[in-house]
Amino acid sequence: MKKVVIIGAGPAGLTAAYELLKEKENYEVIILEEQNQVGGISKTIAYKQNRMDLGGHRFFSKDDTIMKFWKELMPIQGKPSFDDKKLGREKPLEIGGVDPEKEDKVMLIRTRVSRIYYLKKFFDYPVTMKKETITNMGFVRTIKAGFSYLKTIIFKRKENSLEDFYINRFGKVLYSMFFEGYTEKLWGRHPSEISADWGAQRVKGLSIKAVLKDMFQKASGKKNQETGETSLIEQFWYPKFGPGQLWEVLAEKIISDGAILKKNCLVQKINIENGKIVSVEYKNENTGQTEKLEGDIFISSMPIKDLVADMTQSLVPEEIKTIANGLPYRDFITIGLLVKKLNLKNKTDIKTLGNIVPDCWIYVQEPEVKMRKNTNF
Ligand SMILES: Cc1cc2nc3c(=O)[nH]c(=O)nc-3n(C[C@H](O)[C@H](O)[C@H](O)COP(=O)(O)OP(=O)(O)OC[C@H]3O[C@@H](n4cnc5c(N)ncnc54)[C@H](O)[C@@H]3O)c2cc1C
Repeated sequence: MKKVVIIGAGPAGLTAAYELLKEKENYEVIILEEQNQVGGISKTIAYKQNRMDLGGHRFFSKDDTIMKFWKELMPIQGKPSFDDKKLGREKPLEIGGVDPEKEDKVMLIRTRVSRIYYLKKFFDYPVTMKKETITNMGFVRTIKAGFSYLKTIIFKRKENSLEDFYINRFGKVLYSMFFEGYTEKLWGRHPSEISADWGAQRVKGLSIKAVLKDMFQKASGKKNQETGETSLIEQFWYPKFGPGQLWEVLAEKIISDGAILKKNCLVQKINIENGKIVSVEYKNENTGQTEKLEGDIFISSMPIKDLVADMTQSLVPEEIKTIANGLPYRDFITIGLLVKKLNLKNKTDIKTLGNIVPDCWIYVQEPEVKMRKNTNF
């Protein structure tokens, strides 16, 4: 039997434990988590009986194995929820699925509504070719955007950066309007300093062509989901009590399968012998003591910068030290609004309120607004 020590009880650490425990006769699993709660940056914070996400998470993957795994942990909504009924939302529900008004362990099906706030107006995200878009952009800007897109069809740029990647797919005008400022706010770097590979991974199939294709598919009655493009999906899953609930459910499952989860345990030292990690030392906030844990296999999901810093420095190659020290990390502030009562409006009211109620995300491209994203599920 091998002893596996996992650092971190976020999605990666918990999922690794789950996979290992499929062979529980071969592995003993211990997880060390710095915080007193699981879920990492996908956790949901409970405050005065309210639950708030650290960044709204949607659950959608093109990989069926992942979807199946999540569905096994939490069954999918099969009946409309209270807010679905109140808002008159219609969506494809799971046949034989769970009633969210009766069960708490359920993945709600949410409809994706995203918009971009720019020029003090709201644009569909991904951008759609409709009258409002042209009215919002103004006639002159629309013509300019059209010509700049045509130019990129003829003169393709060599893709050295994310900027080139976007311009090749949208043209310079649309790129400046919808991607440039937002990307810089999000990553703290101008798209010209970010590798084109990043675009290939995150927004692979997104382009004017994909937007048009999606539009025509919808018009011909074909389901959007068939495009398979992550940025264009219309429905996603969302645990009834927020993303953290899924990881709480998974933590319960692995503990019942035999894992030991030690919360409030901050790993501070990684001990290496003969080129191999042999133990870790951690500050156990429950006892106030520094404790040592030996193991055969170590899996880390802690930040790489901290991991390398916790190793005996004389044993770390200079190049690795330089790379780890140079890794930039972004601060992230979430502001949750605690309201006394949610004033859900019916379908007719939403039409008149348009801009406020239905959005899941508002991407704030407007340069003078420092906020990046407004989330509401
Ligand atoms: C705003 C925002 C929105 C997002 N939206 C989505 C989305 O819609 N869909 C999606 O799939 N993903 C989304 N993500 C990404 C998702 O949150 C991450 O990919 C995921 O949480 C990464 O999991 P992880 O386990 O690798 O790391 P983490 O979640 O960071 O977990 C690492 C864990 O390790 C612990 N740890 C760190 N250092 C130590 C140490 N020294 N000792 C012990 N424990 C330690 C931490 O406390 C934490 O619990 C979003 C992220 C953000 C910030």
